[in-house]
Parts: sequence; structure tokens; C-alpha cells
Amino acid sequence: MRVILNTNYASHNGAGEVHHGELVPCFENPTRIDSILQTFKAYGVTEYQTPEDFGLEPILAVHDSDYVDFLQHIWQEWQAAGNTVDLIPYIWSASGLPANHNHPSLNARAGTYAFSSDSPITAGTWESTYWAAQSALTALQQVNQGQRAAFSLSRPPGHHAHAGLYGGYCYLNSTAIAAQAALTQGASKVCVLDVDYHHGNGTQDIFYPRSDVLTVSLHGHPDTNFPYFLGYDTEIGTGDGEGYNINIPLPDGTAFSTWSKQLHDISDRIHAFGADVLIVALGVDTFEGDPISKFTFTTADYLTMGQQIAAFNLPTVFIMEGGYDVGPIGENVYNVLAGFELAK
Ligand SMILES: [Zn+2]
Repeated sequence: MRVILNTNYASHNGAGEVHHGELVPCFENPTRIDSILQTFKAYGVTEYQTPEDFGLEPILAVHDSDYVDFLQHIWQEWQAAGNTVDLIPYIWSASGLPANHNHPSLNARAGTYAFSSDSPITAGTWESTYWAAQSALTALQQVNQGQRAAFSLSRPPGHHAHAGLYGGYCYLNSTAIAAQAALTQGASKVCVLDVDYHHGNGTQDIFYPRSDVLTVSLHGHPDTNFPYFLGYDTEIGTGDGEGYNINIPLPDGTAFSTWSKQLHDISDRIHAFGADVLIVALGVDTFEGDPISKFTFTTADYLTMGQQIAAFNLPTVFIMEGGYDVGPIGENVYNVLAGFELAK
């Protein structure tokens, strides 16, 4: 399988995040990809494709232009104002406060775009997230050119980012950008399957009123898990999109056998949708050792997951999302891809 590596993956490197009331080192950090590369090397994977630059157009097909402009330039402004630390806003325009995107205070401006306190903006945030999106688009290109599958190995993740909001470690939604690009490039229908532990709220929101993208997410129940406000099974889409969003929230402690059966139970709906391309938001934070998640998947389970994804028999773009147990992350990711390949 072709693997596209976002070579700028380490540029975004936050000093810390606010997690359950404490300032802690960022769970989402470059060692995640370092570790995957080490493991892949041990398995003989040493060739990586560099992302092509498709520019801003496919990003702006999904994200609001003022939001993209903010992400692109806020660090320079923050630095020019004399700041030397990461930008983490401490006021948010929630609960009806006016969201003035042009506010002269950079903290306030960031607070109109952020929805959580875990996502610092750093010197390299734009560079990393921009090239993560380009990496996803390059993986799509590989599939469009006839590859059965391709994998975008990148960070930061993207599936929590809305059209004009960042949070949950996500800035640009690479998964949504790739899904939209697939349509722009000729696909009639795209299915996004989000297997990350957390609900793909950003992807859901972006395609919520639409029937050309079926969004499916299996995840930790929002009663007890990020992103809390979204991810319930009553969220089925709106207008033309009604029936084209499937959420499967699962309780803390869920094992792979339960998850796998849930995916099996909706596989007829996925087949019936008739997608031309499958985009997999590949998080492995469903792992039993993950420090911020509560499922109990084992490393061997990811082989089965890959086989199950292959059974959809669609050209498939895998895009790296979460996974925070840095030791086994590489083996877990490798197993999904190997399981997919084995199921030829
Ligand atoms: Zn996650």
C-alpha cells in the first residue's frame, strides 16, 4: 500500500493542553508519528511518498475562508504582538457571546474559532495541518490513479474540525477535504467511515445536510466522552442529508467484538449507499492502553478491523487520526493496513 508521509508532521508541537483542569503535555505530539515510522521500518516499510501541493482550493471547498485565513496568519500576529508561548484562548464566544472574528484581541479572536482548550496554536501549526491536508489529497490521488488503497500518515488529526472551528487537536479536516475532493474529481458518492475512538463531529457537521456523503462514526458514547455535544444516534442528517449520517455511540469498556458486530450490522446500509470511494478516518485510540480513551481493543483486533474494512470492496483512502498510546501505535496502525491488504 502506498504510504504518503506528511514530512512537516513535527512542525506543530504544542507545549501543553488543558486536560480535565490540568495543564499537561500534549497527548497529540510528534512522537506519535516517530513511533509509527520506527515500527514500520521494523516491518520493512521504508518508502514514503511526499505529498503534492494542491493549494488552498480543496481546503476552501470545505472550510470557511476567514477561518483558513485565521489559521494561516494568527501565529505571525501573535508573535508580532510579543508573545513567545503557544496561543490557547481563555475566552470562547459560546452561549450567545458575539463571535467577532476580527476582534483586536488575538485571544478573543482565537476564542471565536476554538471549541476546546486542548488545541494550542504554535509556530508550526499551519505548516503541519496544511501538509496533513495535502497528504490526504495525495493519498486520494493515488487511489484515483488506480491504487486499491493508500494511507496518509500525518498529524495533526482532522476529524473534529468543523468548517470554521478547531478543537480536539484538529485544525483542518483532512478527511472531509479528501471526501469533498473525491466528489470534485468525479465521484458521485463518498462514504466516510470514522473508526477513531472519538466521534467525528467536524466531518458530520460539514456534510450534515448532504446526501452525496454518507458519514458513519463508531465511537465512545458522548455522555462520557469528547466531543460530548455531538455523536448521539439521533443525529441522522438534515434536509437532503437525512438518513446519511450514522452514529454508533458505544459504552465505555466496549470490546472489539461488540464494535465489529455493530459495523457488520450496518454494512448493508453502507453497501446500499453505493459509494465510489471509501475514506477511513483511522484512529487507533480504541486501543486498550490508550491514555484518553476507554475501549479495550487489542493489537490483534486491528488486523480483523482491516479485513472488515476491506470487505466493503471499495477504493479506500486511510487517513491518520488519533491514537495516543505511543508505544504500540505503530503496530496497531500497521495491523489495520496489513489486515486490509491480506483480505485481497
Ligand atoms: Zn480520537
